[in-house]
Amino acid sequence: MAAINEVIDLSIEDGVAVITSNHQPVNALSAIVRDGLTAAFDKAIADDAIKAIVLTCAGRTFFAGADISEFGKPPKGASLHALFDKMESASKPIVAAIHGTSLGGGFETALVCHYRVAVPSARVGLPEVKLGLLAGAGGTQRLPRIVGAAKALDMVTSGVPVGGKAALAMGLVDELVPEGSDLRAAGVAFARKVLAEKRPLKKVRDLTVAGATPELFAEFRAKNAKAFRGFEAPEASIKCIEAAANLPFDEGKKFERDEFMKLVVGVQSQAQRYMFFAERQAAKIDGLPDGTAIRPVKRVGIIGAGTMGGGIAMNFLNKGIPVTIVETQQAALDRGTATIRKNYENTAAKGRMTQDDVEKRMAALSPSLDLGALADCDLIIEAVFENMAIKKELFGKLDKIAKPGAILASNTSYLNVDEIASATSRPQDVVGMHFFSPANVMKLLEVVRGAKTAPDVLATAMDIGKTIGKVAVVSGVCHGFIGNRMLAQRQAQANALILEGAMPWDVDRVAYDFGWPMGPFQMSDLAGLDIGWSKETSKGATIRERLCELDRRGQKTGAGFYDYDAKRYRTNSQLVEKLILDFAAEKGIQRRKIDDAEILERLVYPMINEGAKILAEGIAQRASDIDVVWIYGYGWPVYRGGPMFYADTVGAALVLEALEKHLPKLGPDFVIAPLLRQVASEGKRFTG
Ligand code: NAD
Repeated sequence: MAAINEVIDLSIEDGVAVITSNHQPVNALSAIVRDGLTAAFDKAIADDAIKAIVLTCAGRTFFAGADISEFGKPPKGASLHALFDKMESASKPIVAAIHGTSLGGGFETALVCHYRVAVPSARVGLPEVKLGLLAGAGGTQRLPRIVGAAKALDMVTSGVPVGGKAALAMGLVDELVPEGSDLRAAGVAFARKVLAEKRPLKKVRDLTVAGATPELFAEFRAKNAKAFRGFEAPEASIKCIEAAANLPFDEGKKFERDEFMKLVVGVQSQAQRYMFFAERQAAKIDGLPDGTAIRPVKRVGIIGAGTMGGGIAMNFLNKGIPVTIVETQQAALDRGTATIRKNYENTAAKGRMTQDDVEKRMAALSPSLDLGALADCDLIIEAVFENMAIKKELFGKLDKIAKPGAILASNTSYLNVDEIASATSRPQDVVGMHFFSPANVMKLLEVVRGAKTAPDVLATAMDIGKTIGKVAVVSGVCHGFIGNRMLAQRQAQANALILEGAMPWDVDRVAYDFGWPMGPFQMSDLAGLDIGWSKETSKGATIRERLCELDRRGQKTGAGFYDYDAKRYRTNSQLVEKLILDFAAEKGIQRRKIDDAEILERLVYPMINEGAKILAEGIAQRASDIDVVWIYGYGWPVYRGGPMFYADTVGAALVLEALEKHLPKLGPDFVIAPLLRQVASEGKRFTG
């Protein structure tokens, strides 16, 4: 083997050149790789003794993608475009030999080769849309030329890769070689076959796009309008595939390039790339001793089989971890177990799980009315009523039942984890594990670090979150932790706005247009207005209380802030409008017209302000953790990068200025965060 540079080798085996990349960990197409490949292909193409070229990668994967750390920086190294032109126009066959994940730029590299062989476990695709981008080096032009317009639309706008078998069926690879075989040798053998059979050089650019009718594109847009709402990259991708169908290759490629350039400098892709790193960063725990061990978790106990307990249990059952679930009453236990089964049966009915899978999961669930059944659990998660006295009593009992070293977790939404821990003789084993509803669906897990939580308990809670497919974020102890504490700010302003002059549907419309899946009043109606409300103590002091007194307790009663029909379709309520007007008059509030800009600023900026406090108090380890909480727990639009990133795109100074303008209306307890003032005055950013 001859080294071309530190990462690229070129060797020649009896007339076939093998170019190998060894750029760990994932053979990202960094400048050094592009430089090496350019030199290697120059050499191999110029050498008349070489009749064919095989491109392969060492390590765990073929080129996994572009080096996204280079995005947005001044270009350096050889151009991928020039390299691709060189490869595709070579006069000798180039065979890509693919294993691992060949994604984005990595897959584009494979697509400019004349032939592709792969192992069945290989995965290929163009996932750029997930970063607010599209394949910028011909991927959107070549892919539809192989798989047709319909499949290309699905692949490019979902970003979901396909496996080796599917790739073979779609013509994305020419031959599958057995798993575990010598891929390099298989590539060389395939190249020799191409030479022996004198097969023509297959250039994807010379193909035409099948099935590209105007109706296909129109239907695809209509079908996905909701999913793509607010995002720029999916529409740009669709346009590129239209261009692939309607324009000559080079013009289509230029169109793709222009669309890519618009996206890459845009806020959305910056936000989505930022979130990519933010999510990975969230797994890092500050101040943990090196080499902190993880406690093994082989059996999980859950207390409470209500809304949350059942959903939490499903996460573990899905991963084959047995669960013991405990209730106080047989009826509640049966109801909880039946709900879990029903959820699985529904999944099976949709064909996303077999009946066998359902039974396997249910068999791993042990329902019990006896707390003593939790004695052999390694992790016990409490999900009973949100009441400190009940939780303390329960943790006191658990202390006597749980085996030494068991982790005792609470799913409390707001309560002080340290106080809960104080009910035990082992506060070091107590931690908060705050799941979001529905707990089997929502990705966020806030792991609440108590004052005495042991490092290995914290590390284990974070690790188990990852095991069950959650994005776990560390939070300190405070009322409502990171997410609900900030949510309270939004809700307070939403409540104030409807007294000052807006209607619930005005507020919800602005929130929806911002990109949230629903506004605060729709969310209240969905969750139920009677959480924490009781008829006996209700004083009619708020709109919410008055609605509950009228038995308008949300969607479940067919009415709340809105009216609902039998299908839960929502309409604005004249009754609520009158109730709000009367309430405001009663309180002597002079209503005024409130424009959408004020509604948005009042919903979002107090959240940012609270985020700054959460950061300054060390409740969140870093600004990006706050953003991860909001994206994965509350449907904050990912293309806006979370509240703290959003603050940076607006500019802290402008956020501060708006808050100062609105200050008289923000409520007697509202205090502008010193950190916000500081970031604004220093012209800095929260998110670096
Ligand atoms: P829920 O009322 O649906 O369920 C609570 C269950 O706990 C009930 O089935 C009840 O019978 C059972 N229970 C009560 N005391 C018990 C005891 N001593 N032993 C065993 N079982 C007992 O409530 P939920 O919505 O599932 O909330 C549970 C916890 O999760 C609360 O702390 C809540 O704040 C938190 N939480 C709720 C949500 C949500 O959206 N619902 C989200 C995150 C966290």
